[in-house]
Amino acid sequence: MNNIFQKISEWYKRFRKWQLTPAEVPPLSQQQVVCLNCDESYEGSYCPRCGQPAKTARFNFKTTLRNALDVWGMGSRSMLRALIHLTLRPGYMIADYLRGHRQPYFPPFKTLFILTATAILMANVLPMEKPVEKPAKEELEESMNTNNLEDDTQAKFGKALLRFTDALENMSKTEKPLYLLIMQSFFTIGMYCFFRNSPAMGQLTITEQFYGQVLIANQLQFFSIIYLLCTFEVSYDDFALPLEMIAAVGFIDVYQLYGFNWWKTLLRLTGVVVVSYMMMFMLYLGGSAFFFFIDKIPLLH
Ligand SMILES: [Zn+2]
Repeated sequence: MNNIFQKISEWYKRFRKWQLTPAEVPPLSQQQVVCLNCDESYEGSYCPRCGQPAKTARFNFKTTLRNALDVWGMGSRSMLRALIHLTLRPGYMIADYLRGHRQPYFPPFKTLFILTATAILMANVLPMEKPVEKPAKEELEESMNTNNLEDDTQAKFGKALLRFTDALENMSKTEKPLYLLIMQSFFTIGMYCFFRNSPAMGQLTITEQFYGQVLIANQLQFFSIIYLLCTFEVSYDDFALPLEMIAAVGFIDVYQLYGFNWWKTLLRLTGVVVVSYMMMFMLYLGGSAFFFFIDKIPLLH
């Protein structure tokens, strides 16, 4: 029994060490290479003159397959590595990425587009259960009918809100990656308010925060795909995961990334949620006001 405990604790120690260490960099190649592009002769993994990788070879079946898979981010190991690291050491990986360990991982924006496309493809192709909930627009319409708004201005503003909600819903269906990026930017503002100074990361700019948010979105979209495969339930929300799961994943990410203790992380995250939802409320208010006022311009009718 003692033996098993010891083994588990040793395994855990090794896992923790792996979690806290940035991805391994392959050793410098000692091979003499002649660049196929510029004829420069050199030692190393990349041509020092034009940057073409040393492994670039004449086309054959293997390189062709890799080029085709590269479009989907699967030709090199970097996409798979990014997803594994985002699963097992998400906050630490994001910290590495922000500090400058970029080369080992597939670029986060491309990853978000590819994963989102995959999730949508799966939802359309696989025989999945469609959600029974009513879209937000119908719910709004119904509540407006029952509340019978007597005030004309109020009714018009309600209609403007409806049009804006509609526009946003359309965007979330047709331009999902862009929509997700816009939603992430609201959380970025919240994160910037509460996490721009932290024990593990020191001072972070709002741009760095945004990259962190995009990487978290990658992780959530990857988990959504796994969740879709397990449950076969289509969701029209930002991610297919239940809200509690998103909260738990976000908490672990932020805890690992910024190095605050559990309580401080929880308190600050609560602040982030409040600020982000306030920003989204402003977005709805601003969007509705926009539709409300363009309705008032007579030229547009
Ligand atoms: Zn070259």
